[in-house]
Amino acid sequence: MDRRQFCRSAVAAGVTAAFLPGCGKETPVATQADTGIAAVSLDGMDIELGKAAIKEFGDVMTGPVMLSGHPQYDSARMIWNGMHDKRPALIARCVSAEDVGNAVSFARDNNLLVAVRGGGHSWPGKSVCDGGLMIDLSQMNTVTADRDTRRARAQGGALLNNLDTAALEKGLITTAGVVSHTGCGGYTLGGGFGRLNRKYGLTIDNVTGAQIITADGRIRRISAEAEPDLFWAIRGGGGNFGVVTEFEYRLHPFDRNVLSGNILWPVDQARDVLEFYAEWSAGLSDELYVGPSLARIPEVGDSVIMEVVYNGDPAAGEKELAPLRAIGKPTVDGVTVQDYMIMQTQEDATLAHGVRSYAKNGMVREWSQGLVDAMIDAYDPRVFLTNHVAGGAVKRVGETDTAFPHRNAELMLVFVTGWGDAAMDREMIQATRQQYAALEPYMGGYYDNIEFDGAEAAGNYGPAHRRLSKIKAQYDPGNLFRLNSNIEPAA
Ligand SMILES: Cc1cc2nc3c(=O)[nH]c(=O)nc-3n(C[C@H](O)[C@H](O)[C@H](O)COP(=O)(O)OP(=O)(O)OC[C@H]3O[C@@H](n4cnc5c(N)ncnc54)[C@H](O)[C@@H]3O)c2cc1C
Repeated sequence: MDRRQFCRSAVAAGVTAAFLPGCGKETPVATQADTGIAAVSLDGMDIELGKAAIKEFGDVMTGPVMLSGHPQYDSARMIWNGMHDKRPALIARCVSAEDVGNAVSFARDNNLLVAVRGGGHSWPGKSVCDGGLMIDLSQMNTVTADRDTRRARAQGGALLNNLDTAALEKGLITTAGVVSHTGCGGYTLGGGFGRLNRKYGLTIDNVTGAQIITADGRIRRISAEAEPDLFWAIRGGGGNFGVVTEFEYRLHPFDRNVLSGNILWPVDQARDVLEFYAEWSAGLSDELYVGPSLARIPEVGDSVIMEVVYNGDPAAGEKELAPLRAIGKPTVDGVTVQDYMIMQTQEDATLAHGVRSYAKNGMVREWSQGLVDAMIDAYDPRVFLTNHVAGGAVKRVGETDTAFPHRNAELMLVFVTGWGDAAMDREMIQATRQQYAALEPYMGGYYDNIEFDGAEAAGNYGPAHRRLSKIKAQYDPGNLFRLNSNIEPAA
């Protein structure tokens, strides 16, 4: 069946989609519904969207606007975490900055709840909503990298894999997170922790500019020179200030063959390994990224895992790593010179789309015997106790130089559970919270991007919060972008 035929037959079959994919410009197709559709307002009230308004919206969009019943509606509304099963009134699958501007204006003019979907990896499911408009950037996923300027440009819906791949093709790289199907959008706006951050800083420390659509529907290009307050706010302030349709990143020369891999010890050697690490890690170079996890690994058993990436001369890396390798009796030592993308994709399948997942985290300023003891005592094989190493270049950025304030941490402890059966939700959430609670005394502040609950938004922004709320008042006084770690506009 060709495209035109499909469009016609779908309508004839009574599909209740307002506009069919790609049919819009060829054959404007009005909704089959006689009346408007039920929706939810910004402040959660039931409202109705008129048929004419929806049609007008579809007519100005290049990408499709999908309603329930559209053949792609169900796949479009599903995000990474299988815990979230929400049904937006409309999904605007944008293909350009102009589309995003039109979608933002439609939501604002109709007082409609808005969710913004980049890569769809929001743990608490804030990139989808019941009854509102989902602005879907998944088709805006192009990344280009330039060897001469050492810059990458990534569209707002690009994935980290797109970014790493484009940069590596030019012998360059920037900090990107550890699961390659994560979106650049939410990841970057929240901070961006990855395996190169001790050398290059967080991802936000490498953002040199952006194109953003603010609540007034305007397309703005921002940088340290152009609208510097807004540029400051998007580097850590999340999706509060608008929809970013393009990020510009600073890239660094990089040999993709890096000394990297995992070392595993049986969990009964955890004390030796962790006590050693607690002292040794204080003096590590910026090139060495190494941090401990505790987990049950299939076919290996309960383990302490050190994930290693040495961003420099492998011989120097071998030398620096040697004392760690001499501790206890590892069951696996997989550290070798290998392609960087092997590490960058090693968790992709375990943390695949559709898994039900819960996560919490906390920042650790320094290691102590108490922390080591608590990690061992609280071990629970149902929970993946992992980390993002910080320190190095992350720590050398001032607390308020960007909107991400947790600069003085050495490490972020991350508590993640993943399961398939909804009947296990309560048990797995409880197990994660319990382990988190045991280690809470050793942590202060958290990274909002890896947090399911995140109820302390204002306090967690710390010294950045006041400036953020003023900038919010300037660019989003009506708090249109509120499905995020929300910053209320200053009065
Ligand atoms: C499996 C997995 C691995 C992860 N690994 C890491 C890691 O290594 N390092 C790390 O730092 N974090 C990591 N995270 C956390 C990750 O940074 C956040 O989940 C982040 O929100 C993902 O961005 P996204 O675009 O995929 O999310 P989405 O769910 O699409 O968006 C999350 C929120 O970000 C905002 N947003 C997204 N895109 C845009 C945009 N273009 N413009 C404006 N607002 C936007 C919206 O407010 C949205 O609600 C991981 C998450 C998962 C699920």
